[in-house]
Parts: sequence; structure tokens; C-alpha cells
Amino acid sequence: MSSSLDALSTPHRLAMKAALREAEMAFEEGEVPVGAVVMRGTQVVGRGHNMVERLQDPTAHAELLALTAACSTLGTKVLEGCTLYVTLEPCPMCAGAIVWSRIDRLVFGAFDEKAGAASTLYNIPQDPRLNHRVEIVSGVEAERSADLLRAFFARRRVEAASGDGGPVDG
Ligand SMILES: [Zn+2]
Repeated sequence: MSSSLDALSTPHRLAMKAALREAEMAFEEGEVPVGAVVMRGTQVVGRGHNMVERLQDPTAHAELLALTAACSTLGTKVLEGCTLYVTLEPCPMCAGAIVWSRIDRLVFGAFDEKAGAASTLYNIPQDPRLNHRVEIVSGVEAERSADLLRAFFARRRVEAASGDGGPVDG
């Protein structure tokens, strides 16, 4: 990788660290650890982490919470000039919301082999048939994001195996 690319990626890494802090909060709350922030310039205008368990809401993904928070902060339904940072590749639902938000750019960490909809299974944010396309930067701080997810699922397997971890899903 060239040094100019490294320089370009430094602000992305800094913002991704804020998203990783959100993911760590999710981890501590027993949620699948995914975190997101929306930046406009150097300012965080929205943040969120996965709250599916707490809210008992399958739509309470980090990205949707961060996008909603950003719209609320800015008083707009259009996130032109903003970038969404999320620790894991968005699912189809969130990738759709990213398009509807008309955000400029998506930066994500780890690829999601099971549900990724921003390059792995689909590439919804760049589908030319939709009326808005989003620049994508992938793999930023991907190892830290993937490590957090691996630690979460390893712990959940241990709890399930020992029989004292509450309901076992799947
Ligand atoms: Zn999602």
C-alpha cells in the first residue's frame, strides 16, 4: 500500500475507533457487538450500537440507530456530506437504509460472509438500478471488529454449553 493511501485512511481509522467503542458497549450489554457512527467532517453527528436484545426489535441495528440519530441531530432526512462508519458490513436492511439516507460514503470494518449486503452477498449501496449510490471503503480496522465478534460468539457458546446462560438460540 502506498503512503498516500495510508494518509488517506488515517481519518477513517480514527472514526472507526469511535464505532469500535460503540461495538464494545454492545458487547458489554450482551448484544452482538456491532457499532456505528455518522460523521460530518470531523464531527460525530450520530452514533449507535446493536440493541436488538434490549429493545426486542430486529430492526435495532447499529447502523439504523446511528442514521436516525444523525438525522435528528441535523434536523434532516438527507445525510449528504456525511459518512457512516460501521464495524461490520451492513445487512440488506441497513444497506437499503443507507441508500435512502442519501449519505455520501460508507466505511465498514469486517466483511460479513453470512449477511453482507455492501459487497459480499449483495452490493445494495452501489446498485446502479437504485437512485443513489454510495462510495464504499471496506476493511478498516477489520481485525479488531472480527476479534470482538469472535470473542462474543465464543463466550455465548461457552454459556450455552454450561447450561446457565439462559435461552439457547438456533
Ligand atoms: Zn443491519
